[in-house]
Amino acid sequence: MFETLPQPKLDGIIAMMQAFAEDPRMGKIDLGVGVYRDEAGRTPVLQAVKAAERRCVETQESKSYLSLAGDQAFLDTMETLLLGGAVPSARVAAVGTPGGTSAVRQICELIRSARPEAVVWVSAQTWPNHAPLIAASGLEMRPYRYLDSDKGGLDHMGLFADLEQVAAGDVVLLHGCCHNPTGVDLSAQDWAEIAALLERRGAVPFIDMAYQGFGEGLDADAGGLRHLAARLPEVLVAASCSKNFGLYRERVGLAMAIVPEAVRANLAGALAGLNRKVFAFPPDHGGRVVSTILGDTALRTLWQNELEEMRLRVAQNRQALAQALQAETNSDRFASVATQRGMFSLLPLSSDQVAQLRAEHGIYMLGDGRANLAGLNDFSIPVCAQAIAKVLR
Ligand code: PMP
Repeated sequence: MFETLPQPKLDGIIAMMQAFAEDPRMGKIDLGVGVYRDEAGRTPVLQAVKAAERRCVETQESKSYLSLAGDQAFLDTMETLLLGGAVPSARVAAVGTPGGTSAVRQICELIRSARPEAVVWVSAQTWPNHAPLIAASGLEMRPYRYLDSDKGGLDHMGLFADLEQVAAGDVVLLHGCCHNPTGVDLSAQDWAEIAALLERRGAVPFIDMAYQGFGEGLDADAGGLRHLAARLPEVLVAASCSKNFGLYRERVGLAMAIVPEAVRANLAGALAGLNRKVFAFPPDHGGRVVSTILGDTALRTLWQNELEEMRLRVAQNRQALAQALQAETNSDRFASVATQRGMFSLLPLSSDQVAQLRAEHGIYMLGDGRANLAGLNDFSIPVCAQAIAKVLR
């Protein structure tokens, strides 16, 4: 039965990870895969995570099944981290999922079961896995303009012109912060305008929050989500703890629906039912580590300091790369790298130039020019800036 099994086309990220691993060159530089790296290029287990894991090992008495929604302490502490009390808990239904990826998928399944004809609007540049996840749920997807590539900022006019086409009952997927891949974030004013537009058109926002704490800080990064949640009757959220807790391989995430109090129980039941059909119970270990950290003053302080250190390192890399590129290219073409947010920028390079960087300089980024700026350090910043200037000549 499997002779003609079609092979899935690897998305750019997975294919690039393989190519990098197979490259024998010593000085190769990985700006591809979206994980945080320290100055030495490592992705360490956070101290707060280590301490919380030790505590869990010592105190946990059973690993028997929990509920389909997962650990309630994880869901409660994450609700506070994400929403900061912007809406009453009586409006919030949430379930744990294996990572933010499955949270996106489960929210798509929820949309399809409620309204199969809903169109999901997605920023024209987005995380490469959004389209396959939405398609796998059988939903239609349409792009809205987002990046103004000339200024490396928001295409405000294009964004709002396209969102005017959104129909009542459609869903608009927005990156909560640290837009992947552009690094271009919405201002408080943009969020307020989007809230007003979605309210007027009767559309539902779906916030993908995968980098809370990597942009401006934990509360500032959730400002847009909190504004929408307080203003609109229905908001969907997919959240990931992969980056901000460094728990990538533990698969920690949650799917959340913020709805009117009268339908909260329906949503909680629907989300639990969707979990039952795919993996039944979400993984527990990583979520327990998160709730242990968030529920303990000392561990939380330690974690926030570690997260802040990661955030500042990426921001400093941004400044340093922008300066080095300014000096090497004698132009302001890359100035927006300094003002964008989070781990990624979409460098204004052609696919040929990206291929040349890989072939001639061992510098890996995605084909569209998405670079993970956490992959840089004091040594590789000038090397990259020189190589980029060279391929531009
Ligand atoms: N959404 C976005 C925008 C992301 O960049 C990522 C991670 N690359 C995710 C969701 C999901 O992350 P994970 O499944 O590893 O938690």
